Amino acid sequence: MTWDDHLADAADADAPEGAHPAGPPAERLVGAGADSEDTAVEAALRPRSLAEFVGQPKVREQLDLVLRAARQRGTTADHVLLSGAPGLGKTTLSMIIAAEMGAPLRITSGPAIQHAGDLAAILSSLQEGEVLFLDEIHRMSRPAEEMLYMAMEDFRVDVVVGKGPGATAIPLELPPFTLVGATTRAGLLPPPLRDRFGFTAHMEFYDPAELERVVNRSARLLEVETDAAGAAEIAGRSRGTPRIANRLLRRVRDFAQVKADGVVTRDIAVRALAVYEVDERGLDRLDRSVLEALLKLFGGGPVGLSTLAVAVGEERETVEEVAEPFLVREGLLARTPRGRVATAAAWAHLGLTPPEQSAQPGLFGG
Ligand code: ADP
Repeated sequence: MTWDDHLADAADADAPEGAHPAGPPAERLVGAGADSEDTAVEAALRPRSLAEFVGQPKVREQLDLVLRAARQRGTTADHVLLSGAPGLGKTTLSMIIAAEMGAPLRITSGPAIQHAGDLAAILSSLQEGEVLFLDEIHRMSRPAEEMLYMAMEDFRVDVVVGKGPGATAIPLELPPFTLVGATTRAGLLPPPLRDRFGFTAHMEFYDPAELERVVNRSARLLEVETDAAGAAEIAGRSRGTPRIANRLLRRVRDFAQVKADGVVTRDIAVRALAVYEVDERGLDRLDRSVLEALLKLFGGGPVGLSTLAVAVGEERETVEEVAEPFLVREGLLARTPRGRVATAAAWAHLGLTPPEQSAQPGLFGG
């Protein structure tokens, strides 16, 4: 690898997480996106009220006030923007908002709205007070976004009829509605859109105790017998994400049923998740192979992204978008201008000893 290659690599070493539309492959056991099985079973597991919604205490408290106040005034609630990683409960919250307001809910997403006309069709068919959930709102087309500004502010849209010089804009009154927008990062939204939300909530990753409550709650609904240590073991491997916690619970349940008496204990969870190669910190095979290559082949780095990708036999995008965000979040890997660097925690996690400090200047404060 030449120095120029290193520079090219280093130039994008700091590329923001989630900057590319492609998410993690849905089939990945620890992927945060919904796969087809999730979609089928999640409906049964979704909390139906704010009181049932686990964790996110600030968001719950603030949202509770927004909804109560609107109910007392007899108006629709302010538009709500939810930001946060996939699987943290944004869709669930939109359903709760509709339920708590006693309003119908319509669900759509940014990528489904490519033309302003698509949005006009949805908006003009809303009922009074309806909650419109717009997932991945940052991926809407620009003309649709501009139509949305007016709809959010004045409950009005201009529908353009005809083309060229003969085109006319026909104003259309809309019934009052509540828009619930969801995005992986609020920073991706243009400020004029962001400013039109009356209430913005940032959803954090869940801590292990909260995830344990999610696992216990889901186990109850799925009628799976789980002991406290079993639930804790699953929670600790769920990457701060309820969707992953629910999915791991289902896989452990299968194992408990086939290989034991159906009860999810710590031992069963450990053995089941060893089969699925999800380790005690929630890393899967891909995450571990990236870390292992970084440590064993490159002495902990710094190494360029392309080189690292070749070493693990994956596409560069897979390493960057699928494996790295979690490794960075866990403090196992750092993206530096000089390339990827393993942290002391990465050595410890894989049970390896870092090389002597003198051999790796710059790595451990050298
Ligand atoms: P998002 O829309 O952010 O991708 P979802 O709302 O679809 O996430 O949530 C994914 C799954 O995780 C749902 O099945 C839901 O049951 C579960 N879930 C999410 N948040 C919570 C929570 N706070 N308490 C309990 N279950 C939750």
